[in-house]
Amino acid sequence: MEIIHVSAECYPVAKAGGLGDVVGALPKYQCQAGHIAKVVMPMYRTKFLYENEWTVDFKGSANLGNWFFDYTIIKEPTNKLGFDLFLVDINGLLDRQKVYGYDDDTERFTAFQIAVVNWMRNWEHQPDVVHCHDHHTGLIPFMMQYCYDYQQLASVPTVFTIHNGQYQGWMGWDKSRYIPRWDLWKRGMLEWGESINPLASAVKCAGKVTTVSQSYMEELRYNSNGLEKLFEYERGKCQGILNGIDNAVWDPQTDKYLTHHFGVKDVTEGKQKNKELLCERFGLDVNKPLFVFIGRLVGEKAADILPDAIKSAVHNTQAQANFLVLGSGETQVEWAFQQMVEPYKGIFNCVIGYDETLSHLMYAGADFLLMPSRVEPCGLNQMYAMRYGTVSMVRSTGGLQDTVVDMGDTDGFGIRFNQATVGDVDYSIGRAVSVYQDQEHMKKMRQYMMQIDHSWESCVEQYINVYRSLR
Ligand code: ADP
Repeated sequence: MEIIHVSAECYPVAKAGGLGDVVGALPKYQCQAGHIAKVVMPMYRTKFLYENEWTVDFKGSANLGNWFFDYTIIKEPTNKLGFDLFLVDINGLLDRQKVYGYDDDTERFTAFQIAVVNWMRNWEHQPDVVHCHDHHTGLIPFMMQYCYDYQQLASVPTVFTIHNGQYQGWMGWDKSRYIPRWDLWKRGMLEWGESINPLASAVKCAGKVTTVSQSYMEELRYNSNGLEKLFEYERGKCQGILNGIDNAVWDPQTDKYLTHHFGVKDVTEGKQKNKELLCERFGLDVNKPLFVFIGRLVGEKAADILPDAIKSAVHNTQAQANFLVLGSGETQVEWAFQQMVEPYKGIFNCVIGYDETLSHLMYAGADFLLMPSRVEPCGLNQMYAMRYGTVSMVRSTGGLQDTVVDMGDTDGFGIRFNQATVGDVDYSIGRAVSVYQDQEHMKKMRQYMMQIDHSWESCVEQYINVYRSLR
């Protein structure tokens, strides 16, 4: 099958979170399974862009309302990532340093989607499926079906995957002029509430909708930032498929970001060496259990409760634990962590920012990974942690509850709690500190979780079945 993935992120080209990891891996494994998977994404000014050679694949022009723009589609010609990669260059709009966070993100991603559909319209053949990811690509299923200029694409099946349903790309009706001439009778297919809602539109217009875990699929029916009724109504076309992890990138035996590699057999010694590096660098005590948090410092991840939870745990365990935080996000949360560095010297440290290399060292060197998320569609961190023998401490929600078994249950290897509260996190840290005293138990849990198969190979077939069901 020929599958066209359209996404705002793709690792290692540009990544802001889990979406990038998934779109960097799924197509690669689809190609390995004998399919032709391609990725098309915006051309940002990233390191990957400058470090690689590109060829021009297509040049075109289109309109965003009254604004006429030229676009160029460039291609990475060597199949370096294991799939064909295309970048859409729109001068002045997409070629920025960051993926998101600009005032004109609506214009940027709408123009990107128009360019992609324009480009595909010019092909001599049709792909078997167009697979769109998250709201930045949510208008594509609508445009392919209801824009007069793209009628030749109306019969191409579309799949939409929700990696995060909290962000929906809302835009006012004044911006409906951006969408190329469309059938006005189909207004309802764009609308949710008072505005144009690209995520809702994709759920209505795509042939199939998938989310990145089964539990998240169910959660969306009662907690989806206003779209609960829509998910209830469209449940027939929705399916949860748990993400995999890219075992070629996330492998403690070969990880290019690590200096000390390890496997199941020497997990204790291997993790210890990585922990020593971390503790030395951040002034922490290597003899105490090391708890880490890696991620966006936002409400969804419940990062806001961590400063108080950590203070409370330090007090209740008589400082028998170390903490290291890596992330960026809401200013007040960043500030709260930064304020703790001095008073909790030797016990707590943090890095505010994005650091891929450090994140790998943290998965490798930490004893416990904290994930108190309020919302977690799939969560990749806990799966990476498992692969590196780090015990995940997760709130029972979304993909976290589909992947982590509490150590109190049969074959358990993690710690689960129910509420994103200081009390629950503090209590769970207490449990972790106790189990840490039993190093034999820790070793067994580590070895067990490292052998759990979360590879993409097992998920690829499920996606192919979704595509086939649309033919
Ligand atoms: P999200 O909701 O952010 O997509 P996921 O758990 O699905 O959460 O994926 C998060 C990915 O982003 C993981 O690969 C994680 O290691 C990475 N990540 C998040 N924040 C940072 C950071 N500050 N530095 C390095 N990597 C990060």
